[in-house]
Amino acid sequence: MCTYYYLHRHHLPTCSRTIDYVMQYGFCEQATVDPSTGMALPCDNICFDHDQSVDYNDPCAMGGCTESPDCSSGACRLAELNGMWICCECHRGGNVYRWCDHRMRSSPDTLCYHVCCKNCQPDGMGLQVDLSMPNPVAY
Ligand SMILES: [Zn+2]
Ligand SMILES: [Zn+2]
Ligand SMILES: [Zn+2]
Ligand SMILES: [Zn+2]
Ligand SMILES: [Zn+2]
Repeated sequence: MCTYYYLHRHHLPTCSRTIDYVMQYGFCEQATVDPSTGMALPCDNICFDHDQSVDYNDPCAMGGCTESPDCSSGACRLAELNGMWICCECHRGGNVYRWCDHRMRSSPDTLCYHVCCKNCQPDGMGLQVDLSMPNPVAY
């Protein structure tokens, strides 16, 4: 008999998202493997594991607090910034990755690599960027 339960993941304090709940399986010997993905699949006898699962009213009660990988990687902040942002370190906009790919003025061989943070501003043009127009600076 396979089981499933939920874990919780925290977002960082500056992130406006609430806790994520992630489903996890506990597999038994009857579990199979999906040949196309290589992922384990639970057998037909699957039941909810209350003891392992998080309490939605008090998710931290059992411990097991982990940081959301989306948050630590900057993916949350990128989504908050509507996918385009102005770097707070080098003050240049048009960034569409989680990190700034502008070249450093001091050393042009090096990219800024600043990961978007709470000080970075959304680039007002959004994804429909029109390079012929000057960038409005939204504060
Ligand atoms: Zn099973
Ligand atoms: Zn917690
Ligand atoms: Zn987050
Ligand atoms: Zn930068
Ligand atoms: Zn920043």
